[in-house]
Amino acid sequence: MTDTQTPVETVSAAEAAVPQERKIVTAIPGPRSQELHARRQAVVSSGVSSALPVYIERAHGAILEDVDGNRFLDFGAGIGVTTIGHTQSHVVEAASAQLHDVIHTLFTITPYEEYVRVAELLAAHTPGDFAKKSVLVNSGAEAVENGVKIARKYTGRRAVAVLDHAYHGRTNLTMAMNYKAFPYATGYGPLAGDVYHAPSSYPYHDGLSGADAAARTIGYLEKVVGATDLACLVVEPIQGEGGFMVPAEGFLPTLQTWCTENGVVMIADEIQSGMARTGRYFASEHFGWEPDLVLSAKGIAGGLPLAAVTGRAEILDASQPGGLGGTFGGNPVACAAAVAVFESIERDGLLLEGRRIEATLTAGLERLKARYDVIGDIRGRGAMIAIELVQPGTGDTTKAPNAQAVSELVSYAAQHGVLFLSAGTYGNVLRFLPSLAMTDALIEDALTVLDDALAALG
Ligand SMILES: *Cc1c(COP(=O)(O)O)cnc(C)c1O
Repeated sequence: MTDTQTPVETVSAAEAAVPQERKIVTAIPGPRSQELHARRQAVVSSGVSSALPVYIERAHGAILEDVDGNRFLDFGAGIGVTTIGHTQSHVVEAASAQLHDVIHTLFTITPYEEYVRVAELLAAHTPGDFAKKSVLVNSGAEAVENGVKIARKYTGRRAVAVLDHAYHGRTNLTMAMNYKAFPYATGYGPLAGDVYHAPSSYPYHDGLSGADAAARTIGYLEKVVGATDLACLVVEPIQGEGGFMVPAEGFLPTLQTWCTENGVVMIADEIQSGMARTGRYFASEHFGWEPDLVLSAKGIAGGLPLAAVTGRAEILDASQPGGLGGTFGGNPVACAAAVAVFESIERDGLLLEGRRIEATLTAGLERLKARYDVIGDIRGRGAMIAIELVQPGTGDTTKAPNAQAVSELVSYAAQHGVLFLSAGTYGNVLRFLPSLAMTDALIEDALTVLDDALAALG
């Protein structure tokens, strides 16, 4: 970090340019978005989709503003990336200053302080009071790939285990680690081998205690894989794309104990749940889990691409010099932004904002659940909350998934200026992943839209 500062007016101008309010002035998508969409269809691969084809011109705090002047309450935050808010002033200032000082050297040729500072902050804020080291990379999937690489090198073993309903990315190895084949892996094989899918803890459906769910998972690992061949077990403490499943109490620490006893590296994929998303720095803390390795990405740099593998020093140091890294990994601008994110979390007390959002959102959702029996379950932590939608009247018995309801709710909300995301193995989960800048008043506003959308369900 340097003393160079972007003039303060730039930041307040950005704030003034995007008032924190919902406002719809055209049909959705509007005419300019439709024009851009036509251009896009000519030149952008149709393998890249967009949930809502409104083209965004600027964003600040909790609001996205499109090219037609429509303003959306953003309950997606780029899938949990702009956790501390869009164009957050401290991130903008730090990244702008860094752009003027140095943009790239390649840390593996000539290093710089910002990379070291990010590693220090990760060592301080990831769970566990032991010596930790990090490697910085560019994306979540790349962090997963490196976590597996590092664990294999350390253990000298080959097999990788993941849990049912997991999502870990779109590279070759991570495609094999996902639960859902479609759309992530279908037609893209051959996939990486030696990846095993063990049962997870999904209290709403399996009704198991943490101890019983862990015993089931361990039973699978011992019988199907064999502990002595297992390099690592990779687990999202709260599953993201799978539908924000919060594991039963005791599930994660029991698995960690088994991994430690059997020489298996247990890896927390905190790519979606980490970096102040859930009212703690890392969601693992909610469950008393101290993972061997923690994977960060998404929210770590306020919207710039950065990811990390952080964990026990002896595991990170098992790799030979030159074995880890990559051209853009730990880019100085992304690192400067990440330092600003950590500083903002501390300075602005942002862990409390996650808890505030959880309280306001879950109270409002409980009121809706009492009136609409399509809402089967409300779950999550902090600013990572979801509802699971079931077929009406069957909620307590079959809990049959209702993906149709989710797609109708998402589309109604978009037409009324609220961006909600779907999730879930069966597409029947509506997730709320706002930035910590989402005020209580804006949450209440979104809940009135959701209420109307529920009332309008077919
Ligand atoms: C998004 C995500 C990934 C993949 O991250 P990318 O940056 O998209 O490669 C991996 N794991 C989890 C839990 C995620 O949410």
